[in-house]
Amino acid sequence: MSRHPGGRPLVAGYAAVVCDLDGVVYRGPAPVEGAVESLSAATVPVLYATNNASRPPTVVAEHLRELGLDCTSERVATSSEAGAWLLADRLGPGAEVMAVGGVGVGLALAAAGLTPVTPADRRSGRARPVAVLQGYGAEVTASELAEAAYAVQGGALWVATNTDATLPTDRGVAPGNGSLVAAVARAVGRGPDLVAGKPEAPLYLLCARRLGLAVSSVLAVGDRLDTDIEGAVAAGADSLLVLTGVDDLQAVLEAPRHRRPTWVAPDLRALHVDPSAGPAGTGLVDLAAAVAAVHDARDRSADPAEVSALAAEAEHVLAQVTHR
Ligand SMILES: [Mg+2]
Repeated sequence: MSRHPGGRPLVAGYAAVVCDLDGVVYRGPAPVEGAVESLSAATVPVLYATNNASRPPTVVAEHLRELGLDCTSERVATSSEAGAWLLADRLGPGAEVMAVGGVGVGLALAAAGLTPVTPADRRSGRARPVAVLQGYGAEVTASELAEAAYAVQGGALWVATNTDATLPTDRGVAPGNGSLVAAVARAVGRGPDLVAGKPEAPLYLLCARRLGLAVSSVLAVGDRLDTDIEGAVAAGADSLLVLTGVDDLQAVLEAPRHRRPTWVAPDLRALHVDPSAGPAGTGLVDLAAAVAAVHDARDRSADPAEVSALAAEAEHVLAQVTHR
């Protein structure tokens, strides 16, 4: 159930928005239609939360400014920062942590008051890191992954920024950080101690803490059920799935409980629409209800014909919302 009281724009029902990037704000080099205008017009703070750990917040913020958004690095939260935050919470200030991944990983550790060291530092004996923060990096080598495995076998706390298995690029699908984490996991016989990024909760919790808000007052926005929405459910935030990226309405209708968004909308322009407005049967409240009816039917293992009829009804409501 939504915490939004209705009678005002969707965004006004929340204290802040935590927004995913790829598939929500932009797709590849191009901005998603209506995204920049909708986010610029938001009446509450907007933070941008990305699982991509390789780019530091300054670079992400610069990219968003190029697209036309008013954005500083404080408004960007990466899974590297969330990972560094988890480590700073558990280790004393200045503790040595081995950074495996792109430049964003080490920068996040330093910003959290920890001492980033490299795999080469550990190999040579110059450093004795008590933890490993592993994030994506296009230049990560097998010997660096080996050093991470040795450190973990030696008792180091192992935190992964995120476990996205794949990374879409303009040349095809590349192994993402989850695949590199899996390589270390195969060697040490277990997975990481902690994962910071979506679909785990810490990245959303970091955003709420940065804003001084309870996570339950935040609206999480994303395009993927298995990361953005699952993370929001885990963190205890309401969520909005926009259909401008990976997942479509059919995927929403088939989603298990832990991946069900509070709201579904064609795109970010929904932030400025009163969810209860519009002719009966055409608002975001109506769409959420139509989706919930399908979920309810699935959960009670209703007759497939009934599920199909309810799904068709949800598609019909979405078309009404889209064309309003
Ligand atoms: Mg995305």
